[in-house]
Amino acid sequence: MDKEYTTLKFIQKIAKSIPDLYAGNSGGKDSAVLDFLLQKSEIKYKSYYCNTTIDPHGTVSHIMKNYPHTDILQPKNKETFFKLVERKGLPTRLNRYCCQYLKEFGSVGKSVFEGVRAEESTKRQGRDYIQCDTRKWQKKAKHIYPLYDWTEKEIYNYIEKYDIKLAPCYSNGFSRLGCVGCPQVTRKGVRMKEFESHPKYLESIKRAIKKGMENNPQWKITQLADYNEDVAIAWWLSGKTMNEYFQPNQLKLFI
Ligand code: SF4
Repeated sequence: MDKEYTTLKFIQKIAKSIPDLYAGNSGGKDSAVLDFLLQKSEIKYKSYYCNTTIDPHGTVSHIMKNYPHTDILQPKNKETFFKLVERKGLPTRLNRYCCQYLKEFGSVGKSVFEGVRAEESTKRQGRDYIQCDTRKWQKKAKHIYPLYDWTEKEIYNYIEKYDIKLAPCYSNGFSRLGCVGCPQVTRKGVRMKEFESHPKYLESIKRAIKKGMENNPQWKITQLADYNEDVAIAWWLSGKTMNEYFQPNQLKLFI
């Protein structure tokens, strides 16, 4: 049995047992394959895209043009990534608070098909095809992963086979679609490369952290960077913890 067949059967089986299904459409290649399969399965579902406000250029218009059935959800109180940085500081790999405000709010209380694949990261391996969200604020959301065992090669072969249109970032040198400069990305140089093609995003983040530090002298970053937004951004892009990044420099002052 091929992957398409077993995945369609899985989707149809889910539709028989779980009412009111949703699909999270990030605009990325896995979401594109997932949506294609959901359409092909002829089940009923509602699709949504969470506007992170920092996705690669052209993502929102790609969704609007190619997925007219996908609702575009805006962040609560129109609080963009930049406003969040101003209010709460720069998110990090260990404190990725922005996901809750910009992405995960979409699934609260819902049963949602998502394009998560095991191969993407070790963190994603060992999950089940259906995962019940145990975080209280998610109000018993269920995450359903029909593509869980698909490899990247299978995804690209499927895209080619059915000539599925991808978001513009893929033809602009990006290998993934996600928030530009996301601190979860650890591969060296990737974040900087993303900002090089989206310099206005980086400028806006700089302005936001500058304001944030001015309003929050008690923040650790305010003290360590001494209100200097360039220093704060250099630390943020280093991917290091504040202790790893700042301590050696501070120690030098005492020698
Ligand atoms: S994907 Fe990254 S930048 Fe985007 S909301 Fe989540 S942690 Fe923040």
